[in-house]
Amino acid sequence: MERLIDNSLASRLSDFIDESRRIVLTCHVRPDGDAIGSTLGLWHLLRSLGKEAAVVVPDQPPRSLAFLPGFEQIAVFTRHDPYCKSLVDEADLIIMCDFNTASRQDQLAPLIQNAHCRKALIDHHREPDRIADLMISYPDMSSTCELVFRLIAEMGLAGEVNLDCATCLLTGIITDSRNFTVNCKHPDIYEIQMRLLGMGVDKDRIVREALTSKSLDALRLEAYAILKKMEVFQEHKAALITLSRDELTRFSYVRGDTEGLVNRPLEVKSIRYSVFMREDDDCVKVSARSVNNFPVSEICKELYGGGGHIQAAGGEFFGSLDDCRRILLDNMHKFDKYLKEKYIPE
Ligand code: 5GP
Ligand code: MN
Repeated sequence: MERLIDNSLASRLSDFIDESRRIVLTCHVRPDGDAIGSTLGLWHLLRSLGKEAAVVVPDQPPRSLAFLPGFEQIAVFTRHDPYCKSLVDEADLIIMCDFNTASRQDQLAPLIQNAHCRKALIDHHREPDRIADLMISYPDMSSTCELVFRLIAEMGLAGEVNLDCATCLLTGIITDSRNFTVNCKHPDIYEIQMRLLGMGVDKDRIVREALTSKSLDALRLEAYAILKKMEVFQEHKAALITLSRDELTRFSYVRGDTEGLVNRPLEVKSIRYSVFMREDDDCVKVSARSVNNFPVSEICKELYGGGGHIQAAGGEFFGSLDDCRRILLDNMHKFDKYLKEKYIPE
């Protein structure tokens, strides 16, 4: 494995951990496998080091991650606000995983930002804001979980990784890479996988639980979305799926049911990028995915104040689903240039 992590960053993190007794781990809103995998993975590590650690997340993680060891111990801010507040108030250190800007924590952001203790950020999104005393940002990593594994190795703590920690970390690597189908060109991630599997991780279970299982309603919702709601714009090599709250209710939608749906249009070879808009409680959640480096992050940033990775990005729109869709259609032509020229990030 190449040593890609700056040793001085790893040793500062190691000092932060050594000098702290109570440590809070936190991540972004609507947490995914990488957000929960990285925070829970570190939680297991810190506990084996004898620390009082707690995972505090902005809102409820999806049921598809409930198999992860420690899942039941996660403190959810929207459900247990005072408890989360006391954990943050008493922390000596906060480690923020898998996000690059405070607003990605929604209603949890003020509590974390105003905390007086030390903070470290561990993340793989581009252009992070300076929201922590120690910024460990590696945008070339496939996942935050890959970065966490490398950091643990660089801190000399690989021997402390137990089966539970390994299970959480491999889950984030698997979900962010869609089981090693995207974003997995670097050979090291196979070595990392090998080392985690060597500890006894049940990979088949991770793939089934976190990636491929869904309810009958969710399967039918996906079929409905593709058959009835997918619009294809051949001249822009784009596809769009929108789902209103009424449609979601019709299929008894629960959080996580549309996970992966945005990828489906990309199975059509002529489609370069896919956008999915879902009417949420307080906003329209926009998700976008692409192939061949079409920068959907630019679309999400420019039209919806969001961002993300070149091939996987998202944003939030505070208005009607119709307006959200209309804005995309009105502006699609602006992004046609990326169909021809290769996108080079600044
Ligand atoms: P998803 O489509 O799975 O919600 O998000 C894909 C990626 O897009 C995430 O890993 C994250 O990097 C980014 N992302 C999603 N939603 C937002 C958002 O509202 N704001 C920003 N800045 N990034 C987002
Ligand atoms: Mn991630």
